[in-house]
Amino acid sequence: MKKLALHWKIMIGMVLGILFGFLALQLGWQNFIADWIKPLGTIFVKLLKLIAVPLIVASLIKGISDLKDISKFKNIGVRTILIYIGTTVVAITIGLVLVNIMQPGDGISQETIDKLTNTYAKSSSITSKITEASKQQSSGPLQFVVDMVPDNAVSAMSNNKAMLQVIFFTIFLGISMLLIGEKKAKPLKDFFDGLNDAILKMVDLIMLVSPYAVFALLANVVVTSGDPDILLALLKYAGVVVLGLLIMVAFYCLLVSLITKKNPLWFLKQLSPAQLLAFSTSSSAATLPVTMERVEEHIGVDKEVSSFVLPVGATINMDGTSLYQAVAAVFVMQVLWPEGLGFANQMSIVLTALLASIGSAAVPGAGMVMLVIVLESIGFPKDLYPVALALIFAVDRPLDMLRTTINVTGDATVSMIVAKSVGKLHDPKPKNWDDNYDAV
Ligand code: ASP
Repeated sequence: MKKLALHWKIMIGMVLGILFGFLALQLGWQNFIADWIKPLGTIFVKLLKLIAVPLIVASLIKGISDLKDISKFKNIGVRTILIYIGTTVVAITIGLVLVNIMQPGDGISQETIDKLTNTYAKSSSITSKITEASKQQSSGPLQFVVDMVPDNAVSAMSNNKAMLQVIFFTIFLGISMLLIGEKKAKPLKDFFDGLNDAILKMVDLIMLVSPYAVFALLANVVVTSGDPDILLALLKYAGVVVLGLLIMVAFYCLLVSLITKKNPLWFLKQLSPAQLLAFSTSSSAATLPVTMERVEEHIGVDKEVSSFVLPVGATINMDGTSLYQAVAAVFVMQVLWPEGLGFANQMSIVLTALLASIGSAAVPGAGMVMLVIVLESIGFPKDLYPVALALIFAVDRPLDMLRTTINVTGDATVSMIVAKSVGKLHDPKPKNWDDNYDAV
């Protein structure tokens, strides 16, 4: 048992969690899970979120202050954004092609629509998503740029949703440290270096409980998921999303192998603890500390690259989410509004799903909120929004788990590509405490 690698322990935790969830459903133990099992998962996710902001700040400052030349940073920034946009457009295109070929909307009977509408359309989870989407929609086109600039560094850091503000402030500080010269910046740099190592150690410590935490998270997902008959009716739609996501994995493997010349299976294995956590938590933001640790310490991407590329990616690069939004938008149109299915609308889905995935928060269920904005942009009838969301709601959680895994894999892939392109991809040098990391 001592020698078992971490990803195996997490996988065992997941499988046992799912089995325990089904057993609990049979025995009517839902309350027991909610009262005694779920809290462990919640604490674990809180711990990961707790260290995300200090880790981003410390690691980004270290990354920037190790740069000898600021223009390199601009180079990394531009490449990152362009590659992120490129991979997202590929994801949306794959989604659109699959949903048009496989037509998952065809098999949905009026009876299923009525059943789903009656069960979910008026539920608070759906009405709150529609309200949230309309709030986001009412801001002007440049609002996201305005939002990126914080007016208070401390409050930006205290708000988990303001990741881009934290990144903005930290880059600003890091560049200013470069400008005041090495000697003056040294105390600050040493402080952040130490902080960075201490927080990476915190990631290791938190990961020690990850197999138990994923057990709790997954047992809870199983007991709170819906009626199996409904899940069955949506199987074809869910299958299209899953197939699209699998194609994305193949696409990432191809990129890793062609561009970075690394073995894609090695890449997936090194990243796997982060992927398994993304799957269990449905949140790329909560997974970020582990993604950073895996990419830096186990894949060999230099901090100068990863400390910028990964937090930005967790916030704006969501290939899995954008693919899902494209499939879901067309699926609900196939069922509820076939007259809207023209080529022009599908093209505008490419753009709006790109923007919507950038705007989606890295938290569970965010992709569905932004789906409303995609639907709105193509003129989908407003009175049908609740029915549209009700149609896809029952399978949203499992799809969220999978798309979050792809979101994280996409970020890690791009960090390798950018690192390779600027000569910052090395053979990983695990810290001396790594032996404990896998073996405890
Ligand atoms: N849960 C996803 C993430 O955190 C976002 C979404 O698609 O809902 O990456």
